[in-house]
Amino acid sequence: MKIILLGAPGAGKGTVAKLLTDFDGSVQISTGDILRAAVKEGTDLGKEAKAYMDRGDLVPDSLIMKIMEARLREDDCRNGFILDGFPRTIPQAQALKELLKKLDVRLDMAVNLDVPKDVILDRLTTRRTCSNPDCQAIYNIKSNPPTPEGTCKKCGSPVIQRDDETEDAIMNRLQTYNDKTAPLISFYEKKGLLKNILSLSSVDTVEEIKKHLAVEGVD
Ligand code: AMP
Repeated sequence: MKIILLGAPGAGKGTVAKLLTDFDGSVQISTGDILRAAVKEGTDLGKEAKAYMDRGDLVPDSLIMKIMEARLREDDCRNGFILDGFPRTIPQAQALKELLKKLDVRLDMAVNLDVPKDVILDRLTTRRTCSNPDCQAIYNIKSNPPTPEGTCKKCGSPVIQRDDETEDAIMNRLQTYNDKTAPLISFYEKKGLLKNILSLSSVDTVEEIKKHLAVEGVD
């Protein structure tokens, strides 16, 4: 499958993307994960991106497109990809369209995970993330806590609250989403590529996406 997952921060794009990779081996490409790994490694990209990320602002489009052009050219994308957290702005969506044309790749659909605002706020403030950049398992202190010692159940690393999950950064990320990313919903709707899913459970959402893919004849 070659799909985009749209949705506010905390809508569950990462969880849904991971479940979908188990389904058909398409790769998950999360610009957020790529950027966090770069910050952790202290690369030039990481140094440039960190301040934007900590404030909950978007990293400049030019930097993101450089990352995505290189990533989408990698061999493992040939069988399919799930874009998680990209595109985030109209210029990124336009640049992606040109890039896919150049690579001769056709997008199957853009899925919008529609989640009520109170659910989003609750999820973001209770979310914790594994600090190991190779793991990044997501926990929730209410519904899916880490071990009682605060470590990851998968890899044993400390589970932390991300810098961009403080209350100020969360409010800024939601505002940025409304201003810059929500307009992508009508961008893809006009292109006939949008599927809107009321998404309260990741498992149900994945089933619904699979149904849409079957109807479109995507394997
Ligand atoms: P995420 O994990 O997708 O919420 O991303 C975490 C942070 O990385 C965002 O708040 C942005 O600062 C940055 N980021 C991730 N993806 C993008 C993107 N496509 N465009 C600009 N900034 C991004």
